[in-house]
Amino acid sequence: MPNYKAELIGVFGHPVADNPTVVMHEAAFAELGMNWRYLTIEVFPADLENAIRGIRAFNMKGINLTIPHKVNVLKYLDEIKPDAALMGAVNTVINVNNWLIGENTDGKGFMYALTHDAEFDPSGKNVVILGAGGAARAISAELALAGAKTISIVNRHDDRGKILTKLITTKTSAKAQFMKWESGYKIPSGTDILINATSIGLFPDINEKPDISYDSIKDNMIVCDVIPTPTTPFLRESQKRGAKILDGLGMLVYQGAIGFKLWTGKDAPVNVMHKALSKAFSIT
Ligand code: NDP
Repeated sequence: MPNYKAELIGVFGHPVADNPTVVMHEAAFAELGMNWRYLTIEVFPADLENAIRGIRAFNMKGINLTIPHKVNVLKYLDEIKPDAALMGAVNTVINVNNWLIGENTDGKGFMYALTHDAEFDPSGKNVVILGAGGAARAISAELALAGAKTISIVNRHDDRGKILTKLITTKTSAKAQFMKWESGYKIPSGTDILINATSIGLFPDINEKPDISYDSIKDNMIVCDVIPTPTTPFLRESQKRGAKILDGLGMLVYQGAIGFKLWTGKDAPVNVMHKALSKAFSIT
């Protein structure tokens, strides 16, 4: 007898229509011959609690959270994994027998891209992060746990920047400082890793780049972007100054691959996922 029932996962966000994650998970299911579906679901902030109930009601295997739900979702879950608790943000929910577990794979995806693709060990290094939102939180927490020496948070608004700086200094052994982002911000000369963790450069604003002094970028730095399109103006300008660069596509694929394993128990076909996303980005 055929069994047409698919297992369900997906993403809750608002706005979510441009979120490309579905492309890589559907490609992975097709590759492995799995009857699973990844649904892209628009959820308004006021509906998040009901949407989380929906995970249980439909017996979904889990869900990704994207803007603006990553922080608010914590109060609706049964368990929060330690890294996600440290960051105060969840991007992946796993449903184990109706018990909802919150995890954060964003920072882990970044770390995998940094250490495997760029072969860069952040231990003992000085880091400058532009931005203090969810992505900056996830990345800075993982870098701190991996032994980064100093983390400078550079942000436009003081409140978020100071909160993140305090979080790192009180909950990890890394030294952190907050720097107010002024126009033409100069990257300090001792910086080893510079990361754009803002949304500047995200589609459709693909020609935008962070307002920093690009001449302060030196050839001994590695410069990373969370924006998942292959080469952003930020990375192009950094490369012109001799810096090694790392785009956000690897981070996106690896955070998805980690989630895939948590939901399905199977190793994700990373190359297939990478190829599917690259193709999607070449169309947009
Ligand atoms: P948030 O909204 O939580 O944070 C956005 C950050 O960007 C804030 O620090 C904000 O500063 C800053 N910012 C936005 N616009 C400007 C500007 N014009 N000038 C200066 N600072 C600015 O978003 P997230 O942290 O969740 O996401 C950030 C980016 O990371 C998004 O583009 C997202 O797509 C990407 N991302 C990529 C992932 C990947 O796997 N590659 C995974 C997760 C996210 P302020 O606090 O002052 O407002």
